[in-house]
Amino acid sequence: MAHIVTLIPGDGIGPEVTEAARLVVEAAGVPIEWDIQEAGAAVMERAGTPLPRRVLESIMRSRVALKGPITTPVGTGFRSVNVALRQELDLFAAVRPSHSLPGIRSRFAGVDLVVIRENTEDLYAGIEFERGSEELERLRAETRRLAGFEIRQDAGVTVKPISVSGTQRIVRFAFDYARRHGRRSVTLGHKANIMHDSDGVFLFTAGVEAQFSPGVWFDEVQVDELALRLVTEPETLDVLLLPNLYGDIMSDLCAGLVGGLGLAPGANMGWEYAVFEPVHGSAPDIAGRGIANPLAIIRSAALMLEHLGELHAASSIDHAVHAVLADGSVRTGDLGGTARTSEMAGAIAAAVRRALA
Ligand code: NAD
Repeated sequence: MAHIVTLIPGDGIGPEVTEAARLVVEAAGVPIEWDIQEAGAAVMERAGTPLPRRVLESIMRSRVALKGPITTPVGTGFRSVNVALRQELDLFAAVRPSHSLPGIRSRFAGVDLVVIRENTEDLYAGIEFERGSEELERLRAETRRLAGFEIRQDAGVTVKPISVSGTQRIVRFAFDYARRHGRRSVTLGHKANIMHDSDGVFLFTAGVEAQFSPGVWFDEVQVDELALRLVTEPETLDVLLLPNLYGDIMSDLCAGLVGGLGLAPGANMGWEYAVFEPVHGSAPDIAGRGIANPLAIIRSAALMLEHLGELHAASSIDHAVHAVLADGSVRTGDLGGTARTSEMAGAIAAAVRRALA
């Protein structure tokens, strides 16, 4: 029987790279019925919202989605569809592996990291108070009364909630992931010395949970020091457990360590649903030119197939990616080559077919 998968092409380079991923998944021979759902700015004009209910309902039916990137307007306009999707479906864990790949020039060899990022709380929870608004005026008065702190009149405010229950589930997820994938350690990044009541909750709760997770080493480090370690000795780190904002930043850093955003896959997981998408965004600077690297979403699709239990197909895609990169004759511009998105996808699809023949 075919798997039903929601496919969200996204915008910018999204449609180009999702098409490439589809081609490769089809080459892997897994029967999939794609339920194509549009979201983002173009839909906003027609539906009055960038994330229509039908998109969420499709994922609630299929339980699995492959998603291209979606542009978020900066500063004004609608809120991030990506953040809304994670919150609406309670996709509380982002999993983003970064490891050294054959034929890819990078500063370090032997990097093998996985960022596990809490995906629903922290400064990305969406609790915002607009500069000059009546709500912010009331918040200023309460903060003055409760904390004796004077928020400047010309400030805007974003609230940073981190809960014990929200942390418990991401910590359990991280240790479970580490055990299932044979990883040796989980390193938590925080700034609890400054933010006692948010990062402090994350750190303290994780420390308690870690006691119930023997067999995987646990340590913690301030996130600025973690940034330094990542660019000086990344090979000493393994699974990184991070609150939402730091996780977002460190994922791009980790992608940069092993060849860039064009290669970095990701998964957003909850107890019920899973949405697979690349770490990169919609890359408006190269959109529509057919030159984007499709490997990040192709590798995200491989993670999706693994999730669907299609292990053989997933590993055939991994092997194909390794083989094409090692060969080096087909590469997109971000990897120093001249190949187009479709040529890269075609080369991976052909390598998948060879691996399965
Ligand atoms: P970006 O990831 O889109 O681009 C950063 C740089 O990397 C650009 O130079 C781009 O050309 C390059 N790049 C990214 N993906 C590439 C690929 N597959 N092949 C070759 N080069 C690639 O980041 P940005 O410019 O900060 O964000 C653009 C938009 O995407 C913003 O609106 C942002 O909010 C959104 N975004 C969406 C998601 C998502 O949908 N999950 C994630 C991140 C950013």
